[in-house]
Amino acid sequence: MEIKESELIRIAGVIPESVVDGPGLRGVVFFQGCPHHCAGCHNPETWKPEGGTLLSIDEVWSMLRYNQLLSGITLSGGEPLAQPAGALALAKKVKEAGGNLLLYTGYQWEKLTLFKSPEIKELLGLTTLLIDGPFKIEEKADHLLFRGSRNQRIIDVQSSLGRKNPVLWEKSED
Ligand code: SF4
Repeated sequence: MEIKESELIRIAGVIPESVVDGPGLRGVVFFQGCPHHCAGCHNPETWKPEGGTLLSIDEVWSMLRYNQLLSGITLSGGEPLAQPAGALALAKKVKEAGGNLLLYTGYQWEKLTLFKSPEIKELLGLTTLLIDGPFKIEEKADHLLFRGSRNQRIIDVQSSLGRKNPVLWEKSED
């Protein structure tokens, strides 16, 4: 059976178990391709949109080896929102499995809520936490929970959508 373009995802890699990419034990998918090119980025090899490996959603999901010990999955990068159909498909998979979704993006919340993409709107509806904004080397701080620079926020997505304003996750630390 031929796989449609919308069912493919270009990734830089997968980590089946991580404790540093969000609360709890989480699977992590690193998307390939990033338009932000932040100075001091830890993953510059993820920038090229034609790099990494092109896989089906099912192949990426099986690489995660999702199981009930996991709290959910994290979509990182690269820029996951550069492949919104793939990000949405993985979000649906983790919801079906009973887990939650954490999404990293180099876009600020105020900008991404203006995006017209129906996939991004649906994806936000399935996202629990979102870490927003580019990495800024001049605001780098080593003590921040799950983030590299002070401008990045851990946003409670469902509360933020309800209030139409970014609401910080209650366990955010600064
Ligand atoms: S958004 Fe993330 S992956 Fe992209 S350049 Fe910035 S730090 Fe690197």
